[in-house]
Amino acid sequence: MSKHIFITGGVVSSLGKGLTAASIGLLLERRGLRVRMQKLDPYINVDPGTMSPYQHGEVYVLDDGAETDLDLGHYERFTNSLLSRASNYTTGRIYQNVINKERAGAYLGKTVQVVPHITNEIKEAILGCGGPDVDVVITELGGTVGDIEGLPFLEAIRQIPLKVGKQNCLFIHLTLLPYLKAAKEAKTKPTQHSVGQLRQIGIQPDILVYRTEQHLEGDYAEKIALFCNVEERAVIEEADSQESIYEVPLGLADSGLDLLILEKLNIQPGESKLDDWRALVEKIRKPKHDVTIGVVGKYIEHRDAYKSIYEALSHGGFHHSVRVHFRRIESDDLTAANAEGYLAGLHGILVPGGFGYRGIEGKIEAIRYARTHDIPFFGICLGMQTAVIEFARNVCGLKGANSTEFDTESPHPVICLLESQREVTDKGASMRLGAQPCHLVPDSKAEAAYREPIINERHRHRYEFNPDYRERIEAGGMRITGNSPDGKLAEVVELPNHPWFLAVQFHPEFKSKPLKSHPLFADFIGAAIQRRNDRSLA
Ligand code: GLN
Repeated sequence: MSKHIFITGGVVSSLGKGLTAASIGLLLERRGLRVRMQKLDPYINVDPGTMSPYQHGEVYVLDDGAETDLDLGHYERFTNSLLSRASNYTTGRIYQNVINKERAGAYLGKTVQVVPHITNEIKEAILGCGGPDVDVVITELGGTVGDIEGLPFLEAIRQIPLKVGKQNCLFIHLTLLPYLKAAKEAKTKPTQHSVGQLRQIGIQPDILVYRTEQHLEGDYAEKIALFCNVEERAVIEEADSQESIYEVPLGLADSGLDLLILEKLNIQPGESKLDDWRALVEKIRKPKHDVTIGVVGKYIEHRDAYKSIYEALSHGGFHHSVRVHFRRIESDDLTAANAEGYLAGLHGILVPGGFGYRGIEGKIEAIRYARTHDIPFFGICLGMQTAVIEFARNVCGLKGANSTEFDTESPHPVICLLESQREVTDKGASMRLGAQPCHLVPDSKAEAAYREPIINERHRHRYEFNPDYRERIEAGGMRITGNSPDGKLAEVVELPNHPWFLAVQFHPEFKSKPLKSHPLFADFIGAAIQRRNDRSLA
């Protein structure tokens, strides 16, 4: 039977619960356990797919097409946990299930209530992640203890030990110790209140992890232990990591968190195998070179909006032992007249995905600049669509070329809706979503990077390269080097007479890992290093 770890957060949001959960997953896997990760989000949207990046940050897409919280990206980057639609539940989805059952008459005339019907549905979602091939399920609860909407979830996880046995469950609570400069000390009171609230609900945390900007000297653990009714050795410090998020698991391992978890769950600890991870962190700390990549997007001031893009670019850097610096450029501000000021000196330019017209012309100018100045260019999803528009307008002479997403009257709709999308009216979960095969053309940059003829990558878009323009675009010199198996959908385009100009309709950033950079990101950063070296020789 699977054991269960629950991770809750208190005091403030944005404590890095997702990273902590992912790090615990990694540490347990490295001791030989089979781990399954899960996130519960108390908001009412059925999934985050319809939320603005300003609200929610990136929407992370899984192989099965589930649109999920960005914490699942941490889970995939840190662990080998299988993730699917069952790995992310929201209040909306739980209620939707319950209401569907009620309409189908499944409750046999009963009054349907939060307790037990909603809580039972949540329990089923949690227990459903367990199974004979899973040693430990790690369930992270989004939000902060004290949120009204989180209550049914807390009540449900309180009940799980009754079902699977107390000895098979562990509650870890993550809080913040704010440091008050004037008092020259950190304060434990908010943590005490937060644990107090949890205990009122009936949850006694077994382990308390406190976040702090810097390592704290003093008897904080003793004090927290006493007031929160947690063993002193189970009060663990998690200070902000200095260099990168990939240091977090090592810090937790050094505090003995993984051993403590195993002891409390009564699991015989296997040897901890972290050599490759330690080597990775060493590599990150001592890069041989630096490169600077411009990311031209429109949610640029929101750090989480392109989370996986920044991570994947960094992974490409790890692959070559270089540090990747980012120049974040707001595409709305970029014009033909000022492009030089924003883009000169960059070693690579990436245009990520996005929706809606705002910022499009700036992206097109950035792509034109990369194309005409031989700067390595990587376009992703909307980044590919804008690369095709730029090429159609400025090389093929197709005046007014556009995507019908931005201009339904365009004389040259080089990007358009396919038949299957034209009838779709609902916005939720109705795009082309999830992993799909793509056939690469031999002797292409893409095939050279992947070193395989058929790849599987995740999609999240409605619009496609218009097949009616394939010939005209290829005649202009842009190669289509990746296609759907039926040959109809263009998935990859490249410019053969450019040092590195490649754009993809899918999202490779979702499949990059720190120890195994995605091949396209590794190749792109390789080209950026080349550009940097060429420039320094010139
Ligand atoms: N808005 C574009 C589409 O729906 C691109 C989507 C994206 O970049 N993820 O096709």
